Amino acid sequence: MNLTLLGLPGAGKGTQAKKISRDYNITHIATGDIFRILIEKGTPLGKRAEKYIQQGKLVPDDDAIQIVKEEFSRIDMNTGFVLDGFPRTLYQAEILTEILDDMGYRLDMVFFIKVNPEELVERVAGRRVCLNCGATFHIEYNPPKKEGICDLCGDELIQRSDDQKDTVRKRIEIHSNKVDELVSYYKDLGILRIITGQSIEEIYSNIKMAIEVEL
Ligand code: ADP
Ligand code: ADP
Ligand code: ZN
Repeated sequence: MNLTLLGLPGAGKGTQAKKISRDYNITHIATGDIFRILIEKGTPLGKRAEKYIQQGKLVPDDDAIQIVKEEFSRIDMNTGFVLDGFPRTLYQAEILTEILDDMGYRLDMVFFIKVNPEELVERVAGRRVCLNCGATFHIEYNPPKKEGICDLCGDELIQRSDDQKDTVRKRIEIHSNKVDELVSYYKDLGILRIITGQSIEEIYSNIKMAIEVEL
């Protein structure tokens, strides 16, 4: 099963992708996480991506496509995957279709997590992440048991430097029409599933229902 998640920054792509990956045993590929690892390692691609990410802008398509291609060559494609944060432009979506086609695979379903845009700034501004294990929390909506400490691995939680309110607003603005284009692209392909819901659990249960219909 090969999936991707669409949604504005803060919609819950990462939160839901981790649950799907765990329960259905498929590989989670989060382009934002990979960029952050490359930045920390100081690779040329990481250095190039960093300035875009800090400004809340999209990294150029070719770099994003490159890291996804590398992940596909690294993982066992027969296991299946859930993409999180890719594609983010129509061009990336078209190339993704081609790459998968060349490898003899395709996307089975694309989940669009639809969230009231007014909620997003608070969500992203309250997000806290663990750089050690990748877990994500929210200071109010999904707090760790012990403030500032990851429930899963005990490491310190941090606020991403691109999660400041001003940068978040800019990201939401940049992404809005891109998400619309992606939604219509996948709708035309017949694999779009619109997911609504309020709590993390309610959204996840709607995703699971959509998956079970196909299995
Ligand atoms: P969020 O979870 O807030 O949506 P991500 O962690 O997915 O953010 O991504 C962080 C940043 O990495 C994005 O703001 C963007 O600059 C860059 N990025 C991630 N994925 C892509 C992509 N597919 N294309 C271009 N830039 C990307
Ligand atoms: P994305 O990957 O789409 O940017 P995340 O999964 O990182 O989004 O979620 C953004 C923030 O909002 C995180 O702090 C997360 O804990 C919180 N969050 C995710 N889903 C919900 C929800 N349904 N209700 C409230 N908060 C949520
Ligand atoms: Zn952790």
